[in-house]
Amino acid sequence: MLQTIKMTKARLEETKGKSLVYDDWFDWQWQIKHSIRSIETVEKILNMQFPESEKKELQKTISKFPMSITPYYLSLVDPENYKNDPIFKQCFPDPKELNHAVCDLVDPLHEEGDSPVPGITHRYPDRVLFHVSNICSMYCRHCTRKRKVGDVDSIPDKEQLQRGINYIKATPEVRDVLLSGGDPFLLSDSQIDWLLDEIAKIDHVEVIRIGTRVPVVLPFRITEGLIHVLKKYDNLWINTHYNHPKELTSSSRAALKKLIQAGIPLGNQSVLLRDINDCPMIMKKLVHQLVANRVRPYYLYQCDLSEGLEHFRTDVGKGIEIMESLRGHTSGFAIPTYVIDAPGGGGKIPIMPNYLISSSSSKVILRNYEGVITTYQMPSDYSPTTCDRNCENCNLQLELEPHETESAPIGIAKLLCQYEESITLVPQNLERDERIMEE
Ligand code: SF4
Repeated sequence: MLQTIKMTKARLEETKGKSLVYDDWFDWQWQIKHSIRSIETVEKILNMQFPESEKKELQKTISKFPMSITPYYLSLVDPENYKNDPIFKQCFPDPKELNHAVCDLVDPLHEEGDSPVPGITHRYPDRVLFHVSNICSMYCRHCTRKRKVGDVDSIPDKEQLQRGINYIKATPEVRDVLLSGGDPFLLSDSQIDWLLDEIAKIDHVEVIRIGTRVPVVLPFRITEGLIHVLKKYDNLWINTHYNHPKELTSSSRAALKKLIQAGIPLGNQSVLLRDINDCPMIMKKLVHQLVANRVRPYYLYQCDLSEGLEHFRTDVGKGIEIMESLRGHTSGFAIPTYVIDAPGGGGKIPIMPNYLISSSSSKVILRNYEGVITTYQMPSDYSPTTCDRNCENCNLQLELEPHETESAPIGIAKLLCQYEESITLVPQNLERDERIMEE
């Protein structure tokens, strides 16, 4: 590792024409300042050259989707085999990004459509996504928010952030706020402190989450100063984004350790990426390394339908195969939930192998990871509690505080309710309804 840092630093020095101080390597602002944004610098650092025609295509690609790589992340690439390197593929452009697939969408998750005020996405009833920055330390080639990341014209200013905070204040059902971006940790310590303080003061917010990739691509951002700020908030969770075991370097592990020692629970969201981690063995190694560093694998995402990502996408069968190779084969808490974030804003839909083979009113038939088929017998005298959301008359003793309210059930949960009269969910503009109206 030391060797590759020295080599990357020496080649950066050549491109800059001046010498760099060794200790600066570990300074996150130095890393940002020296981020690699040109194809020529990558050629120099990896000691190789692209053919002119390929270079032209690459140039075209980065003029549409900019490139920015921290020297740290690029130093993890194996120059001898960069074409197959999972780090290289996540940070270096591929002209295939310019191919337009029929199903590509600019905003596949409908984040802007579900936005009551700029910067806030309010999709699920009790939680919001708050875009607090659109700057990242590195532009991941597979980023679902490619349309926004790095766009200096849409950097949220303090007034926009204040509008987001006001929306959360005025919406009592929001109990969980997820700060995202871009990367929230690219804000200064004092900006992060201000934001967290404003949100923590809102009585109905029980949980604040931060989604960040800095432990992966810029671990030196986890400074003592940042830890000092984060430690003040005892309802904080952090989710990071490792996709490959190669990303868990000693610097990265040291950053995770600082966060853990500050008492912050850590989760990880990976994206299933073609030719990078679409392999049961890579995934198993990744989740093992994550839990060994006290990071709980949270989600494995099917790659979104964002523009320019088709070459990263796998079929869903690959994801199911990976889940099949994890469940039962390793500890349950090391297994993420595999999800498709439904295009059009439908939210995360969990996908998994089928374990329930059949059922009767007295038994269910199940299969386990080895293929053993087994039965589970229902109790003969079970009479379920019928919930009418009036806890006062219920023997289950849910002691709600006076301000605690339960929102009305929706969707399938509503159909399952015994006190609800709805018996169907009917799609809008149903053709046969229109026929009846015409008659
Ligand atoms: S860090 Fe996250 S938001 Fe930023 S480019 Fe990477 S995937 Fe996108």
